[in-house]
Amino acid sequence: MIGKPLRRLAVVAALAVGLWSISAPVQAQLFSDRSRSAARSMVRIEVLDVGQGDSILIRSPEGKTALVDAGPTRDGALNVLKGKGITSIDMVVVSHHHSDHYGGMEPILRTFKPKYFVATGSSHTTKSYLKLLEVVTSEGLTAVQPSSKPRKVELGSVEITILPQPPENVKEENDNSIGLRVQYGGFSMLLTGDSEDDERRWWLAHCPDLVGDCSILKLAHHGSRNGTDARWLELVAPDLAVASLGSGNSFGHPHSETIALLRQYRVPLLRTDERGTITLVSNGATWNYVTSTPLARRRSPRDDAVAATRDDGTSRRPSRSSSRTR
Ligand SMILES: [Zn+2]
Repeated sequence: MIGKPLRRLAVVAALAVGLWSISAPVQAQLFSDRSRSAARSMVRIEVLDVGQGDSILIRSPEGKTALVDAGPTRDGALNVLKGKGITSIDMVVVSHHHSDHYGGMEPILRTFKPKYFVATGSSHTTKSYLKLLEVVTSEGLTAVQPSSKPRKVELGSVEITILPQPPENVKEENDNSIGLRVQYGGFSMLLTGDSEDDERRWWLAHCPDLVGDCSILKLAHHGSRNGTDARWLELVAPDLAVASLGSGNSFGHPHSETIALLRQYRVPLLRTDERGTITLVSNGATWNYVTSTPLARRRSPRDDAVAATRDDGTSRRPSRSSSRTR
C-alpha cells in the first residue's frame, strides 16, 4: 500500500551514460557499507522551510549530504542547517541563477566548503551570482556543470542522476534549471528547480525514463501554474507532491490551477508554507512523511499524508488507476 515500492532502478542505471562519481573514497565507502544494517538504513530528504525559495537537504544512510539550493536570504538556510546539527556538506547544487535559489549559498560554501559545486554555465547572471562564483574559486571547490548526457552521482548509497541539460534558453532562466532524480532503492524524488513548460517538454522528449515514475515530485517553480502540467504529472506519476514557498507570497504560489491539476490527478500536496520543513524518509522499499515530533512510523504513509492534506482541503486520496499512463 505504500507508494510505489521497488521501481525500476535498472532504467536509471542503464541511461546514466556519463557516469560521474563524487570521489573514489565515496565509492569505496559505498561498497564497504553494503551490509545488512546499511540496507535497513534510511535516506532522509528535507524540503527546508526557507520562505519563498528552494532549499532541499539530502542525507544518505552513510551520512553523505547534498544541498540543492539555499533559499532566498543570506543566512536562512545556513541557520536551518546549523539548527539540525549539520557539520558537513559534500555537494551543493544551484538549480538556476535566481536569488531565491542561491541567495543563501555563499555562507554555506564558506562554512561547509563542499567538495562539489554543481551549477549550469547559463549566461543569465547578476553581481551577486558572480560573487558566489568567486567564492567557489577562492574556497577551492570543484565546479561541475551538467551536460547533454545524464550524469550519475553516488552520494553514499543514494544515487542522484543529473538530468541531461537542454540547450540554454537565453530568454527564460527558469528553463535552465538543473533537474535531479534522487533514487534510493525503489524510492525516488524528482527535483527540477523552477523549470517551465519548454524545459519539461524537452525532458519528456529526451529522457522520459529519467523523469517517469517518481515516488515524490517537488513541484517546479513553487507550485506556479507554469511549473506543472498534465503530461508532466502523467509521466512522473508521483504519489505525493511537495511545494516550497513562502506564506503569503506575492506571486500567489501555489496557483489555483496547479492545485486543481493535482486534485484531478489525485496527487496529495504538502506545502512548506503550511507545514514548515517537510521531512521524507525511505528505506528503499517504502517511504514516509515525518511530522515534526515524534517520528511517524506508519503502516501506510501515503494514506496519512493524504489524510493530512485532506484536512487542509487541498487534495484527497489518490487512485492510481485513473492517472497512470503505464
Ligand atoms: Zn524560484
